[in-house]
Amino acid sequence: MCSDEATSSAKASKMDLSLPTSLFFDYLCSSNFNHHIMTEFGFINSIKTLFTDLHKNGFEGIGDDCAVFEFSERESLVFTADLLCEGVHFLRHATSPRELGGKALAVNLSDIAAMGARPVATILSVSLPKEVTGEWATAFMEGYHDLSKRYGVALIGGDTTRSDHDIVINVTAIGRVANEHIKRRCDAETRDVIFTTAELGASDVGLQDIIAGRLDTPAAAIHRNPLPEIEKGLWLGARPEVHAMMDISDGIASDIRHIMEESHMGALIDLDRVPVAEGATLRQALCGGEEYKLLFTASFDGAEQLMHDFERHFHTPLYPIGRITEGTQLKWREKGTEVEHDWSGFTHY
Ligand code: ADP
Ligand code: MG
Repeated sequence: MCSDEATSSAKASKMDLSLPTSLFFDYLCSSNFNHHIMTEFGFINSIKTLFTDLHKNGFEGIGDDCAVFEFSERESLVFTADLLCEGVHFLRHATSPRELGGKALAVNLSDIAAMGARPVATILSVSLPKEVTGEWATAFMEGYHDLSKRYGVALIGGDTTRSDHDIVINVTAIGRVANEHIKRRCDAETRDVIFTTAELGASDVGLQDIIAGRLDTPAAAIHRNPLPEIEKGLWLGARPEVHAMMDISDGIASDIRHIMEESHMGALIDLDRVPVAEGATLRQALCGGEEYKLLFTASFDGAEQLMHDFERHFHTPLYPIGRITEGTQLKWREKGTEVEHDWSGFTHY
């Protein structure tokens, strides 16, 4: 009986696995799920809905840059995971293994910074084709090690498997934060000022350079070597006038919508105030992904003092780019007049 069951469940799982991916997505879009258009975020929402019947065992997630586990009255741990897939996130010939090792860690630490937390440990899983198991893998690990050392982050485990074709890297990062310093996407308030911490667009200029085969431009180097804003995240986390925060991974045009949706608010972006990096267009600054800078909102009354203190501390300015508004709409303003744009950032589907 038991073995029959085992055989039939093995058959069933074999059948399920043999379904084309598109059918798997059709299934997810079926009446069991609320979302009928399968986008990356539609898929994530479907997962969230499917799991609402399960107890969360003290965890807060899905939906923010990190999941939060409050382990004492004073402190929480935060958790995040990111995948890097060859051909989707990087081209093997266009990046050095050392740079890739650093980037695999940096994109995860950026999500920890976005919560106002300090990264403490990571778990690293790699799926490597045979030809990259020697020198390539050593250099990759050196890059990962260098950035771990820079931020004082331990590597506490992982998994290693063979891959038939592509390199796939998954990092889970863990951070630690005082409960009152946690910055969530859902805490934006009406009249808040929207800020970013840096000029934007250089990473997208670099991506276009890489796609065009110009691998040695300054922008291409920026794209391949992002640095998480750990110190800025910690500093902003400690400021009560900062309300909602996240990191910019898909582009402001998409990312601000996550703050809006989670906070049930609208936003007005002042296009004249968006800080555009040298060589980039306004559109690249707003729609380009993989910036790994911070996007946050702060109370209108505290905004000026915050800007002043930030600049004195970091010797670099904060950029106010808009306001949180009543309602649910994202609006753009240019030279004082509302303008229409169908801009959005990166999405996988
Ligand atoms: P980020 O860009 O900050 O890494 P994502 O856009 O990748 O965030 O994900 C948005 C939210 O959805 C996060 O809270 C993330 O943990 C969650 N998420 C993404 N993919 C999955 C998945 N396959 N299963 C469960 N949660 C997921
Ligand atoms: Mg993020």
